[in-house]
Amino acid sequence: MHCPFCAATDTKVIDSRLVADGHQVRRRRECLTCHERYTTFETAELVMPRLIKTDGTRQPFDEEKLRRGILRALEKRPVSSELIEQSISKIKSAMRATGEREVGSDMLGNLVMEQLLLLDKVAYIRFASVYRAFDDLAQFGEVIASLDKR
Ligand SMILES: [Zn+2]
Repeated sequence: MHCPFCAATDTKVIDSRLVADGHQVRRRRECLTCHERYTTFETAELVMPRLIKTDGTRQPFDEEKLRRGILRALEKRPVSSELIEQSISKIKSAMRATGEREVGSDMLGNLVMEQLLLLDKVAYIRFASVYRAFDDLAQFGEVIASLDKR
């Protein structure tokens, strides 16, 4: 790829390593012209099932939207980017593992909840309160009570 700083075409890879449980390759590159360094990430492009919304409409899986939702739930929480990316990889693997062309959007919601529960309970409750749209405090209390048992 072209250097993002000076658009030169020649860059060299100075470091390459597996990240996100081996699902991603991180490469440090250096531009041979301006000597700026930058990082690229490489992931396999695999077919993700589309999402069937509750109203029956279909939407393509949107990784950025997923990441934004997870980051919002984890705002100001002590969870590393590395762990967040691992969770996103796991969610995507689980989606692909269905082998389906389309899955219900609730499946994605449940996968996110599963991962957030492992990452951070506060984020889990934040996400659950929006995703499940609790209509009363008792219901919210039940979720918190069920967390204490874990
Ligand atoms: Zn350059």
